[in-house]
Amino acid sequence: MTESQTTPRPPADADARRAIAPVICYPNEGLPQPSLELYQNARAGAQKTGEVLVPPRDARCFEVPAGHFFRITSVEGSQVGDLNMWSLTDLSERFYSGKTRALHGTHLTTGERMWSSFPHMRPMATIIADTLDWYGIDEFGGSVHDVIGTRCDPYTGNLLSGTQYHHCCHSNLTRALADHLGISLAEAEPAVHDVLNVFMCTGFTRDTGQYFMKASPVRPGDHLEFFAEIDLLGNLSACPGGDCSSEHSSDTAACYPLLVEIFAPTEGALEGWSSPARNGYDGTHGR
Ligand SMILES: [Zn+2]
Repeated sequence: MTESQTTPRPPADADARRAIAPVICYPNEGLPQPSLELYQNARAGAQKTGEVLVPPRDARCFEVPAGHFFRITSVEGSQVGDLNMWSLTDLSERFYSGKTRALHGTHLTTGERMWSSFPHMRPMATIIADTLDWYGIDEFGGSVHDVIGTRCDPYTGNLLSGTQYHHCCHSNLTRALADHLGISLAEAEPAVHDVLNVFMCTGFTRDTGQYFMKASPVRPGDHLEFFAEIDLLGNLSACPGGDCSSEHSSDTAACYPLLVEIFAPTEGALEGWSSPARNGYDGTHGR
């Protein structure tokens, strides 16, 4: 075949077409804005009510009532976490990574929210503090706390290298959910979904558009803190990739625990706030 048959020739106005300025798909000034000051003031007086230590290469569930707070902290060493979230009373309402990405961008930080799946589509949690906020976007296009990855899983590992590895975040989240709810692995697995990659530093390469990871800038003491907008069931996996500087889906990386702490606000601290209702679309889809 000749070159012209395999590679379409660019049109005469190719440069002009490429030069068209982008338009933001979802200008987020239109989103209902969280009362960040109210949340942060309520957090300042909040009392700790519980904690869960997530062991390395494993996951644990935790429950957070609406109006309470939870904090994820790196302890002992640089470690990234894969976070799943459901409505405490309805597993069909789960974190929607793709829509959250469309609304807020590829990586989340303070003031941004984790949105739930259709037909619920409402804020599940709002980020109220992020000690890695300073990182910004590095020269490679990398940033932290992404909603672009999925979660490391044994199926992709098997596809790429024929492995049977059982401590990927997908399997960790599946076991933890099954244990927490007293259901089988087969029942729990379909509820596991794409995650918020807490502390993970990722992006897309500029030349090939491929998903990349690099050593997380997280250090012990760094944390990400959330306000629970609805009653939540959380599930956090301490990724087998550790800081994700080299590889995941194996036992070779140095791996550390992650701490989850829950805090309750004092009486009256959230005056004027109410848990968001489910999405207002009437659900009739034109019929
Ligand atoms: Zn992982």
